[in-house]
Amino acid sequence: MAKAQPASCMDDYDPASLPVAEALRRIELVVTPLHHAERIALRSALGRVLAEDVRSPVDVPAHTNSAMDGYAVNAEDLCDTGNVSLRVVGTSWAGRAFEGTLGRGECVRIMTGGVMPRGTDSVVMQEDCEREADAIRLLGAGHRRGQHVRRAGEDLARGDVAVPAGKRLTPAELGLLASLGVGEVSAVRAPRVAFFSTGDELRSIGEPLLPGEVYDSNRYTLYGMLKRLGADVIDLGVVRDDLDAIKSMLRDAATMADVVITSAGASVGDADYIKTALDDIGEVDFWKIAMKPGRPLSFGSISNALFFGLPGNPVSVMVTFYQFVTPALRRLMGETHAPTPRISVRSATALKKRPGRLEFQRGILERDREGQLTVRSTGEQGSGILSSMSRANCFIVLASERGDIDAGDFVDVELFEGIV
Ligand code: AMP
Ligand code: MG
Repeated sequence: MAKAQPASCMDDYDPASLPVAEALRRIELVVTPLHHAERIALRSALGRVLAEDVRSPVDVPAHTNSAMDGYAVNAEDLCDTGNVSLRVVGTSWAGRAFEGTLGRGECVRIMTGGVMPRGTDSVVMQEDCEREADAIRLLGAGHRRGQHVRRAGEDLARGDVAVPAGKRLTPAELGLLASLGVGEVSAVRAPRVAFFSTGDELRSIGEPLLPGEVYDSNRYTLYGMLKRLGADVIDLGVVRDDLDAIKSMLRDAATMADVVITSAGASVGDADYIKTALDDIGEVDFWKIAMKPGRPLSFGSISNALFFGLPGNPVSVMVTFYQFVTPALRRLMGETHAPTPRISVRSATALKKRPGRLEFQRGILERDREGQLTVRSTGEQGSGILSSMSRANCFIVLASERGDIDAGDFVDVELFEGIV
């Protein structure tokens, strides 16, 4: 958080810039979750957010069954002194139960997942006994009643919440829901997000580049980041640096989307029209944030649509998207989630940093020769160097008030990828 202290040429404090945490709080205040839900097939629900709790229609497991390959026995027959011998009277396979009822001194060969026969309550692993024709002799002692048995309902009882509303479905939930026989779920509808780039210098792939022109890469990173979040994307192309053209496209975008995103023109240069356009046709909540990269960032609304005016530099677009647009979209989708965890590790390299802004440098988290987790910089940190995002596997998050970091100092990192 920015400290009240006099500005100097050695720092980056700007009293007009909003601290990142405050910007996030304001976004959270404004964003209300979408209410509309739709029933969709289980496979299509991957990455979608559950609109209502899914309760288990069954006990899981449905029947008490064996957790091991071995023999189903009655614990009364397990004797601590060893030398127990039991008669094998049948087999219980996974999917083919043994129908009889066991008496004392009897056992049933059982496979993992096999239903426990009537009269048994424990399983002896096959490694813990010796088979002799139609009998087994138990080896060792210390058997317990109920050992190696999975009880009906021990994972979930019928009526328990199996997956709560607000959960984004991962492969684990697809499997869990399938195990309950649930083939359809109610998912929050995908938010519609319209976006366009601004800038007279932007060209599309396939066009030749004249001096000073660049290919429009922001529409591709935005497309990727939005798709990953499960948004319905509406790509509106490129709009030139012209106030009326931008206003007109913003109005159109707001009629077709829940969220409108632009890139570039967000600052106060002579060709930067986003903030003026938003002032004219919508509401500006804030437009300057104490972070690096990404200081110019407009947030507000146009009619019923939320608006994010992201910076133009390709790295700034990604950093501001992950820090602000992602939490906003997740909230819009009704997702209940914890903020991205930050891990404290040693920096293997010295890092340049001026106090005054929260910084997101690009880092590579790895183990050093001693096996300790350390992070090193990807190198040049210019906000136009998109290859730094591709080579990095984490952000190095440096608090606003920090100055230069020495090699060996602790820093926070946010990992790019989860596993599941
Ligand atoms: P601006 O915020 O409009 O001053 O843009 C800042 C920098 O980002 C300039 O160097 C632009 O050329 C660059 N830039 C803006 N939009 C894009 C885009 N869509 N793709 C790639 N670079 C961009
Ligand atoms: Mg521009």
